[in-house]
Amino acid sequence: MAKNYYEMLGVSKTASDDELKSAFRKLARQYHPDLHPGDEAAANKFKEVNEAYETLSDPQKRAEYDAVQAGGGSGSFGGGSHGPGSSQGNSFFDEFVNMFSGDHHGGGGHGGNGGDISLNVTLTFEEAAYGTQKEITVNRFEPCAACRGTGAKNGTQFVKCTNCGGTGKVRYAQETPFGRVVSMKPCNVCAGTGRIVKEPCTSCGGRGSVRKNSNLRITFPPGVEPNQIMTIPGEGERTRSGAKAGNLILTITVQPHKLFRRKGLDLLVDIPVSFTQALLGDKVFVPALKGNKIAFSLPEGAQSGMTFKLKEQGLENPKKQMKGDLLVTIDIELPRNLSKEQRQKIKELHDSLKPEQYDKAREFIKK
Ligand SMILES: [Zn+2]
Ligand SMILES: [Zn+2]
Repeated sequence: MAKNYYEMLGVSKTASDDELKSAFRKLARQYHPDLHPGDEAAANKFKEVNEAYETLSDPQKRAEYDAVQAGGGSGSFGGGSHGPGSSQGNSFFDEFVNMFSGDHHGGGGHGGNGGDISLNVTLTFEEAAYGTQKEITVNRFEPCAACRGTGAKNGTQFVKCTNCGGTGKVRYAQETPFGRVVSMKPCNVCAGTGRIVKEPCTSCGGRGSVRKNSNLRITFPPGVEPNQIMTIPGEGERTRSGAKAGNLILTITVQPHKLFRRKGLDLLVDIPVSFTQALLGDKVFVPALKGNKIAFSLPEGAQSGMTFKLKEQGLENPKKQMKGDLLVTIDIELPRNLSKEQRQKIKELHDSLKPEQYDKAREFIKK
């Protein structure tokens, strides 16, 4: 029952590397688990496509695979277990593998180690700036309580696996450009557990794990950046007892603030000031993120778009003992709907001003 990798990728047996790559990319995108959360069929399809591509994209493995297929297809081909470095030199593939920690058993199926779970988390601007704790719900496989994750009824009804002699590992040989390499891989009969379930657990049907919602309290440190990825080891899929748990991978979205923007630890804010404040100078109050107000002296003759730095009034990184600045950019506003009298006074003011009182205009005329 060897799988037909060419059919899985929808290419011909003579497909070129480029054809393989483009077929793989299309399918990988189509079945990517991030697009089908909790959909096991899609997750399996994704794994199959990965497995097929991993084999066919490696000339050595492809030749071996073709040879096995030509021999009647009865031989079992370990396409899913890749040796070290087998996927090197293909960054696109590595990217996908890394997302699932290179584990083709990901997704919490039978026996294998737990796959990674990717989730999106949205934080408010303040939460990201100051750090927060949040409860998030993760739907994942957990070891079954009834059988203590063994899959056997009452946690006792199993026998030693004869394929691996109860060790859970088997030797396998691999031809590499450097010769024949013998290494160990998990026994596929007992999925690396060393035991075969005699009577399956009725709670989990012998799988050893059950899917459920778990509430986790996650601490987000201060200064989380938008689109930052946080990996929480061991909080992904947890399958049977003894298996390695996957990771929880959080992609963080930060909601924009109505007033502030962020640049690392610096906070940026635009404030409107009247033309008279800019002209004569004034004490101005600037809002701070924590709700208080910070006073600063706007100097006489401030120009539109000027930025003033309020030192160490930005965000803090307590770990690095660093503080950012608050950068205040002024937006000078001119009054509207002037009365006749006001127009007259402004006109008088205008007539009294000398051209050399305007820096920019003076520079402009010089040029
Ligand atoms: Zn169970
Ligand atoms: Zn075994």
